[in-house]
Amino acid sequence: MVSRNGSLRLFRLFGITVFVHWSWLLVAYLQYQYRRSVYPSALWFALEYGSLFAIVLLHEFGHALATLSVGGKADTIMLWPLGGVAFVDPPHRPGAVLWAIFAGPLVNIILLPLLLFAAIYVGQFAPHTSLASYIWMVFQINLGLLIFNMLPIYPLDGGQILHALLWFVLGYAQALRIVSVLGFVGAAGLVGLAVWLGLGPYTYIVAVFIGWRAVIGYQISRQIIRQANEAANRAPPPAATNVTWIPPANPQPGSTTNSWDKPPQ
Ligand SMILES: [Zn+2]
Repeated sequence: MVSRNGSLRLFRLFGITVFVHWSWLLVAYLQYQYRRSVYPSALWFALEYGSLFAIVLLHEFGHALATLSVGGKADTIMLWPLGGVAFVDPPHRPGAVLWAIFAGPLVNIILLPLLLFAAIYVGQFAPHTSLASYIWMVFQINLGLLIFNMLPIYPLDGGQILHALLWFVLGYAQALRIVSVLGFVGAAGLVGLAVWLGLGPYTYIVAVFIGWRAVIGYQISRQIIRQANEAANRAPPPAATNVTWIPPANPQPGSTTNSWDKPPQ
């Protein structure tokens, strides 16, 4: 049941195994201490935290199922305090990666009008009740997750979507180099924001995680670009391309010798 890295195996669906890390439960307890005064009963908090769990899980299933739909590999989803991680390996094409990444936030976009409708409905017929507070909170959680994930800060979903879009134009490595720099700037901005607004340690942990992943992304992009440059320097001179052009055996009347100097474009 418990895997080596301290995570609990929950269930398996569509060939994807869902794990929850023990620290998720610790954060649940800390959140409960912080938010228990909002509801008259701990049951409502359990429901709220369970809903956060479900929304993150649906988001990760979006990534995983989209990856499988384009012929990639996805077999594990891990939930931990910084959110969820779907271990996905889409085919190395910008279109496939774009779909695999966008499908996560797409789940939150689909949930948005449904939760808004529920919040308005309950707010009208049962205002100032725990149910109204709960639905409104779940709507805000989903909206918050969508906005945060869509920030163009690599490796957040928004940053990875930007990477896939730039990949179409600039190639994989150059695109990764640009979004990694943006990711690092974004992480520094997050630290600045945390200092300015006096936010808690959670924001710093997220910022350090983003900055660390951005540095790794930058190193990978540099390595790929350097290897490509070395391979280009080792390649034989391109003069050989003229040889591959076979001139017509019987030149047509009127053709000049000039046309023999280089292949037709
Ligand atoms: Zn995501």
